[in-house]
Amino acid sequence: MGEISGRCLCGEVRYVARTEPKWTALCHCESCRRSASAPVVAWMGFAPEDVAWSGERKFYRSSEIATRGFCPTCGTQMSFESTRWPGEIHLYGVSRDDPENYVPQLHCHHGEHLEWLNVVDDLPRHERTAGE
Ligand SMILES: [Zn+2]
Ligand SMILES: [Zn+2]
Repeated sequence: MGEISGRCLCGEVRYVARTEPKWTALCHCESCRRSASAPVVAWMGFAPEDVAWSGERKFYRSSEIATRGFCPTCGTQMSFESTRWPGEIHLYGVSRDDPENYVPQLHCHHGEHLEWLNVVDDLPRHERTAGE
């Protein structure tokens, strides 16, 4: 398997993941939506030690347990970490250099999805997360 590389809009913040994602998910939660100003966010999960960064991220504490990293120059959201998922860093699937190769596995927090967004697929839909 090859590496997965990605970047922010301006290109100052870049990453290279040396593995395939552990999992992928389309998240419909309000926190993700608002941070990205997008109707849904395509996530991919990695072990932090498998991701190498270049460029300086800034961090925003979006809840008591979650920290979101972003590019201070262009504002692109780049990462999510939470004490709820220790040993993981979540990256944005469409920040990849090859977003066409991102493969979503499921929908999470589908209970919060916007009614006007109708994604037609056969993927499992979880009201909250896959484990709940
Ligand atoms: Zn940037
Ligand atoms: Zn979310």
